[in-house]
Amino acid sequence: MSRPYAEVIGDPIAHSRSPIIHNHWLKALGIDADYRATHITPDALPDYIAARRDDPLWCGCNVTIPHKIAVMDHVADPGAIRDGIGAMNIVARDESGGLFGTNSDAGGFYLPIADLPLAGESAIVLGSGGAARAVLFALAQCDIGDVTIMARSPLKAAALLARFGLKGSVKPLTAALPLARLLVNTTPMGMVGQDALTIKLDSVGKDCLVYDLVYAPLETPLLKMAAAAGLETVSGIDMLIGQAQIAFELFFAVPPPADDEGQLQALLLS
Ligand code: NAP
Repeated sequence: MSRPYAEVIGDPIAHSRSPIIHNHWLKALGIDADYRATHITPDALPDYIAARRDDPLWCGCNVTIPHKIAVMDHVADPGAIRDGIGAMNIVARDESGGLFGTNSDAGGFYLPIADLPLAGESAIVLGSGGAARAVLFALAQCDIGDVTIMARSPLKAAALLARFGLKGSVKPLTAALPLARLLVNTTPMGMVGQDALTIKLDSVGKDCLVYDLVYAPLETPLLKMAAAAGLETVSGIDMLIGQAQIAFELFFAVPPPADDEGQLQALLLS
């Protein structure tokens, strides 16, 4: 490879949509660079980071499962990500060429709802895994009021409330939903090949925005149910594109084109 490149690393990695997004933007901007998917197993991570550190053509990488925690041991952490979200999804170069890690999942989640006034409001978060951490971190930055985490692992959920200094409660996924301004699904339920959520939306109130992090299918069973109930919805594809926008600028030092989201969505879903 003789031109600049960035990549996404994970194990497995073949399913990643990141190359579609970044290569679309590189082409649209006429940048002579490449973005690829690279399969890296956990054992290979230290050697991978060492080799890329010395590769002048390498602009950085997105990091996905299972490396989001382990990668923190290999790069600088100027944004105190370890003590905050506790997982990195980007490694990029700083001004002197050194490597630092950051996380764009929280920012990517927040971008589509940046106009929603959330201070003091109630929110429901379904699930307590990696994506829930980014969501709860972002909600804590918004001074959210009560947060109800509904999850099958109550201990993990309670630990997340404490970690992010949030007030609220933990309930099973089978409980009735409380009134809320925002409902976020961070479980894979409703994704292609997975069972749909069995929750009912009749108790969340008419002002509740329903945000599903699942993006395949674009209109998940949860979003269909919310739309049928007259509730505002946000699809996970907006977060997927939002987190990639933040990463692209860190890798290639220019923002991606702002006006082609419809085209990109169509490409991602084709
Ligand atoms: P994860 O770390 O594995 O967490 C998944 C969470 O869902 C865990 O709390 C897990 O419970 C729970 N869960 C899984 N299957 C369940 C089931 N059948 N019933 C009840 N709870 C279940 O995964 P993740 O990285 O957070 O990703 C979660 C989803 O978000 C995926 O669909 C992913 O594609 C999506 N996502 C989207 C974006 C985006 O940009 N739109 C970004 C990140 C993630 P346990 O803790 O008990 O296992």
